[in-house]
Amino acid sequence: MSARQILVCNCGSSSVKVDLFDLKASDKPLISGSAGRIGTDQSRIEIQGNEGETRFRDHRSAFLEICDSFESKGFFSEKERLAIGHRVVHGGKEADQPLRIDESVIALIDRCSRFAPLHNPANLAGIESAMERYSVPQVAVFDTAFHSSMSEFAYRYAIPSELSEKYDIRRYGFHGPSHEYITLKTAEFLNKPIEETSLVSLHLGNGASACAVYNGKSIETSMGFTPLEGLMMGTRSGDIDPAIVSFLIESEKLSAKEADRLLNKQSGLLGIANSNDMRDIVSQMETGSTEAKLAINMFAHRIRKYIGAYLIQLAHTGKNNGADAIVFTAGIGENSPLIRSMVLDGLVSFGIEIDEKKNQSNSTLLSKESSRIKIMRLPTDEEWMIARNTEKLLAG
Ligand code: ADP
Repeated sequence: MSARQILVCNCGSSSVKVDLFDLKASDKPLISGSAGRIGTDQSRIEIQGNEGETRFRDHRSAFLEICDSFESKGFFSEKERLAIGHRVVHGGKEADQPLRIDESVIALIDRCSRFAPLHNPANLAGIESAMERYSVPQVAVFDTAFHSSMSEFAYRYAIPSELSEKYDIRRYGFHGPSHEYITLKTAEFLNKPIEETSLVSLHLGNGASACAVYNGKSIETSMGFTPLEGLMMGTRSGDIDPAIVSFLIESEKLSAKEADRLLNKQSGLLGIANSNDMRDIVSQMETGSTEAKLAINMFAHRIRKYIGAYLIQLAHTGKNNGADAIVFTAGIGENSPLIRSMVLDGLVSFGIEIDEKKNQSNSTLLSKESSRIKIMRLPTDEEWMIARNTEKLLAG
């Protein structure tokens, strides 16, 4: 049989992205399609960069239309070569690796919808549409699974144990495929076995998270029970004194849902600088906006705090054999020399020396020869990681 083709299906809360990979032939998708703003009048399909006019009521119709379009272009005519990998945001404490989809995995994803009410139902809609259309092997690749290697002392919250157990309240962590991809590519770049590679991975996009990876495994990550915890993000507050939540609920007479919305959708960069787009905020700062300057300083300050904490945890775990690298990825991490420089400036005494020339030219390696810890910039590729995990699981 010739090599398998993997269709990667990534259903977000209001979007569907589908990529077809043949990993033996290329790291890039053979074809890509997406649909955004599903459920609104502005929903549009895009196939290989060409926009269409179709409106979609739901994820199912968007997924099926993208597949129709791929098939009409002659892709995956041989169904026996096809497998499907689905991104699933939350797999709870049970899903510590990708899982071949069957009734019990569907039930697990459904149970975990209480933790990710916007995402897991959308992921399930993608799975159900794909199963309805294609009788081929399907795999769920979970955002949370890469972090299942955390120790109990890292994932537990200091709340009464009976509540943690009753509701499965613990740190789960997210952006798993991105941090896993960055780990793999860092090991490749450093020419080290993945089991001997340790790093701080910084995924800085609209959503943002940091991850401490020791010998290829996540030992701590900044997102928690939900993606709200940790770094300051586009619209999420990140870490906040939990007492502020009950204070605001009482003072502003907010419902729990309104408080959740405030912290997830109206906070972060948007709450401080009136925009959640870092490019806008940087240009606002350049024209003298004090709010934009504050937002950028807060953003960088919070990342530095996590790097400091994670370097210490890695050195402790590795008995002084700490991080090989600090790696920046995602929209801001990959494209903003300013943020990278603000985050790592002045850390020579910690063995961290950024080379401004390399930083400004967006090189892969951003540190000076003399820097004990390498500083890197790597474009992430979550879809490729999902395809590869799907193929690996099916290859047994
Ligand atoms: P998402 O989490 O939605 O996938 P991305 O990884 O695409 O997000 O990151 C989006 C963020 O990256 C936005 O804040 C955007 O402004 C920022 N970004 C993209 N290019 C640049 C750039 N050249 N300089 C600064 N920020 C950038």
